[in-house]
Amino acid sequence: MDRDKILLTPGPLTTTLRTKLAMLKDWGSWDADFNAVTASVRASLLKIIHGSDSHVVVPLQGSGTFSVEAAVATLVPRDGHVLVLDNGAYCKRAARLTSLMGRRCTVLGFDEAEQISAAVLQENLKADASITHVVMIHCETGAGVLNPLQAVADVCEAHDKGLIVDAMSSFGALEIDARKTRFDALIAASGKCLEGVPGMGFVFIRKAVLDGCLGQSQSLAMDLHDQYVYMEKTGQWRFTPPTHVVVALHEAIAQFEAEGGQSARLARYTQNYQALISGMAKLGFKPFLDPTIQAPIIVTFLAPEHPAYDFKAFYAAVRARGFLLYPGKLTQIETFRVGCIGAIGPQDMAQAVHAVALALKDLGL
Ligand SMILES: *Cc1c(COP(=O)(O)O)cnc(C)c1O
Repeated sequence: MDRDKILLTPGPLTTTLRTKLAMLKDWGSWDADFNAVTASVRASLLKIIHGSDSHVVVPLQGSGTFSVEAAVATLVPRDGHVLVLDNGAYCKRAARLTSLMGRRCTVLGFDEAEQISAAVLQENLKADASITHVVMIHCETGAGVLNPLQAVADVCEAHDKGLIVDAMSSFGALEIDARKTRFDALIAASGKCLEGVPGMGFVFIRKAVLDGCLGQSQSLAMDLHDQYVYMEKTGQWRFTPPTHVVVALHEAIAQFEAEGGQSARLARYTQNYQALISGMAKLGFKPFLDPTIQAPIIVTFLAPEHPAYDFKAFYAAVRARGFLLYPGKLTQIETFRVGCIGAIGPQDMAQAVHAVALALKDLGL
């Protein structure tokens, strides 16, 4: 049988048959039909954050990181100074791309088992007036920590600093409300909690800062201001759009809305998370994080402390039962990760736990 394996990863994710079927058509990138799909996707995305009044949304070809890089290059002046709040691997990636874009970058480090702190951010902003922008990751997919978006946004607003949020693995599942939370840019992508396929990112940009972005990007392809202006004028993408990805996202968003939107998606992912945690606990697995700071997006488990444990063999044994796990991303200790997101429900999670139990037997654990 060729049933697809279930992806328990932070993306790409398991998608529905309906979403996959949407890709069985060719589209002309200049054609009015395709332009209408792009416009509909953009309007739906803005609705999810209640951002139609305050923000625009600019889609961009590529994986999520392309859009993070584009957001930094477009939003931060070349003589700007970015403070990156770092509690994990994706924060480090954001800091690296900021430096590579030629922007001055300071990293404020936190423990990867803890949230970033708005109070510590405040002290740093007071101590260094040259900081122009703050970068944070909403859900740090490295360990799975949920970071305090509202508190950080409030501090940035009080100090009049630009805030750039990588909400890649949280957007669509966790609440983000542009009416309550001020950010200059917020980034997500097609292949995460909206359950589309990978291939495009999108950046919400606050209207108040949009005009100031003109000419700041040193890249042509990654210039979100240019992409925005062209799209507003013509309805088209500047360069070849990922047509199949866009129509798949359109179909995925229709299902997202039919399911009940963000709150319903969060409820399903929370059920997945609970089924995972309780099942794994019965097998003796301990999560790495304190549950109070754990997002129901991806869970890091401590690897079994047994000489016979080997991630590759464990992965292969679980894979043979139809489920794909994800390696850990912590520097100090041996872990593995299990995603709770995608077009899956708690019964799939129960089966995944069963697959893990059988894999442990295979390995003699
Ligand atoms: C998935 C993800 C990204 C983007 O990763 P890509 O591999 O470029 O799609 C960025 N940040 C976070 C927090 C993520 O979870």
